[in-house]
Amino acid sequence: MADNDNRPSNFIYNIIDKDLADGKYQTTHTRFPPEPNGFLHIGHAKSICLNFGIAQDYQGQCNLRFDDTNPEKEDIDYVHSIQEDVKWLGFEWDGEICYSSNYFDQLYAYAVELIENGKAYVCFLSPDEAREYRGTLKEPGKNSPYRDTSVEENLALFEKMRAGEFKEGECVLRAKIDMASSFMCMRDPIIYRIRFTHHHQTGDKWCIYPMYDFTHCISDAIENISHSLCTLEFQDNRRVYDWILDNISIEARPHQYEFSRLNLEYTVMSKRKLNTLVVDNHVAGWDDPRMPTIAGLRRRGFTPASVVEFCKRIGVTKVDNMVEMGMLEACIRDDLNANSARRMAVLDPVKIVIENYPEGQVEELQVANHPQNEEFGKRTVPFSKELYIEREDFRESANNKFKRLVLDKEVRLRGAYVIKAERVEKDENGEITTIFCSYDDETLGKNPSDGRKVKGVIHWVSAEKGIKAEVRLYDRLFKVPNPAAEEDFAASLNPESLVTLTDAVVEPALIELEAGNAVQFERMGYFCPDVDSTADKPVFNRTVTLRDTWAG
Ligand code: ATP
Ligand code: MG
Repeated sequence: MADNDNRPSNFIYNIIDKDLADGKYQTTHTRFPPEPNGFLHIGHAKSICLNFGIAQDYQGQCNLRFDDTNPEKEDIDYVHSIQEDVKWLGFEWDGEICYSSNYFDQLYAYAVELIENGKAYVCFLSPDEAREYRGTLKEPGKNSPYRDTSVEENLALFEKMRAGEFKEGECVLRAKIDMASSFMCMRDPIIYRIRFTHHHQTGDKWCIYPMYDFTHCISDAIENISHSLCTLEFQDNRRVYDWILDNISIEARPHQYEFSRLNLEYTVMSKRKLNTLVVDNHVAGWDDPRMPTIAGLRRRGFTPASVVEFCKRIGVTKVDNMVEMGMLEACIRDDLNANSARRMAVLDPVKIVIENYPEGQVEELQVANHPQNEEFGKRTVPFSKELYIEREDFRESANNKFKRLVLDKEVRLRGAYVIKAERVEKDENGEITTIFCSYDDETLGKNPSDGRKVKGVIHWVSAEKGIKAEVRLYDRLFKVPNPAAEEDFAASLNPESLVTLTDAVVEPALIELEAGNAVQFERMGYFCPDVDSTADKPVFNRTVTLRDTWAG
């Protein structure tokens, strides 16, 4: 039984509970098996939380295994980024990192075993011929003319494949299963093919590489995996998984179970498509804050806890669906609302001058870092005669619904004084350049003594002490909810997914913040410093807006 009450309840946990109760397994051993052909995305986070979560809940083990049988598409950089992302999410794999390529010798030996038992053969059909022989969903396939080659000859041919005596594509090794099966994947699937490609782990040792269906089940068995969890598109392949393990002399017997993959609206989730976005420069890299990658979310200011919470909220089922972006954003918003400090930043500044404030004076005001939680303490915010406020926070005239600064009316500056707008100065285009104000020096931290009611509170930054910054506002990456369904998915990219503000001013305390650590810019949203920040110009990413702007 799982050892905590907070564990998820889903069909996989039910299967595990039963298997443990029946004594089928003594403990759980799961694995997370990424192919190192791209960065991990939020869909992988679902699989990571499931596999590593099971290990935590059942005090079992979970391996990190690189499923690295496709050397053309793989890269050692991805091997590194994947490890970093798993750790960042807060998980630790058991033992050494595993690689399918560690098992190439064993896999080769099992392939030889299949040949010896008359269950695999070297096939020389061209790809076109093979397609024709495979049949269709409605029609059975035909046996390959190479299906009945003798065991001795197959052994010799396979050895020649390994020795590099055939050209790429000239032949393959196929499992001899059933060309009439209603499952296409059972119609004598390819289990080895020739690729004269350097491998990031095994170098040039091999010119034949095993296919996923052959490799995955055997790797699971070698690692003594109990429950092999994968996404629904591998449902049919479970037949091949079982067939291979039933036809080789390996003792361990893992079982495969499938769950639905995570699909998220307004983004894409396949590494191939994400790679296209990177290669074609639609985004600034795999860790662009608009990407649904773990690295992108991290750079955007998401916390590991928010991603894990999201995976918990979406749950694990066998039903394919599309999750709203609002679900993911709600998780980070809830986390940051409770756990992030407040700061002030003016994104679209207009200058105010407090005419009756002493020239040259700077007051070091103590302002609370969190409105509900005193444990966050206070920080020093400099106040001076010239300040910036948000241009949208001022109007020359407005009705009572506008609770901000209006000509001849009062408003409170957050953590500071009540001010009144007296007059404005405009440029030749009629745009306001300066708002001249007065302040009531009796109102620092208290209401006006004569009982005047001041309802509005706006944020501000000292013009003298504030720091110029760039702010990047992100929106959905695509214009349509399901870009993967479009003929040309890149054509539905949202041209306004990034809006850069170059004139923002932030309070000095923000300089100390490290990249990726989000705070709330009062009234404006949650933001974190970006890695592009320089000593001259900090750059901030908007992690998420204060409220759900997607709804409705
Ligand atoms: P992609 O199409 O993004 O390349 P993949 O399945 O080819 O995905 P792998 O690296 O093979 O990527 O995946 C590692 C593990 O993560 C697999 O067990 C896979 O089933 C799981 N996984 C991948 N994408 C998702 C997703 N969107 N939701 C849940 N699990 C996923
Ligand atoms: Mg894959």
